[in-house]
Amino acid sequence: DERVKRISEKIGTYPDFPKPGIVFRDIFSVLADPSVFQDLLAVLEEQIRAVCPDVEIIVGLESRGFLFGTPLALALGVPFVPVRKKGKLPGELKQVLYTLEYGTDVFEAQAKCIKLGQKVVIVDDLLATGGSMKAACDLVTSIGGTVSLCLVCIELEDLKGRETLDKPFKAIVKF
Ligand code: 5GP
Repeated sequence: DERVKRISEKIGTYPDFPKPGIVFRDIFSVLADPSVFQDLLAVLEEQIRAVCPDVEIIVGLESRGFLFGTPLALALGVPFVPVRKKGKLPGELKQVLYTLEYGTDVFEAQAKCIKLGQKVVIVDDLLATGGSMKAACDLVTSIGGTVSLCLVCIELEDLKGRETLDKPFKAIVKF
């Protein structure tokens, strides 16, 4: 797919950011080119329509998941629901604790935003260890949603994050 090639070539690569030894993949360089950003949104939408044509909710992970989740929800005509770090969302919440490289963090979502059995697609910019995506799956499931697809723009294959997920998974670009 020519579009995937263009997207892949636009992704910025920054060795030793934010720490020595980490190769950071920067998705914002894609957003800086509207035609490639449009390609990326089109390819993401096609993946959703192929795997889960009857999607009912798009969940986006803070914060870069919001960049792709919101236009996808609009294009598909379904609600967008944010998953955020602890303390940022008002109202009745569900929480999940997850493990980071050093220590733990908490993801939250508004409990009433997903109804029992609704089909959910979870969107983020990048899958590394898979910890964030796995936590989001657990959170959506605990609210009663059914995770039909985990979708990311970039997968860092060496980290084998895909293996931590027990839901359908798709990535547009793999490094
Ligand atoms: P994981 O939980 O899979 O280890 O890490 C994925 C999360 O960390 C994603 O929300 C993603 O935004 C962020 N992340 C980790 N590494 C990178 C990277 O190289 N580039 C970008 N853009 N985000 C990263």
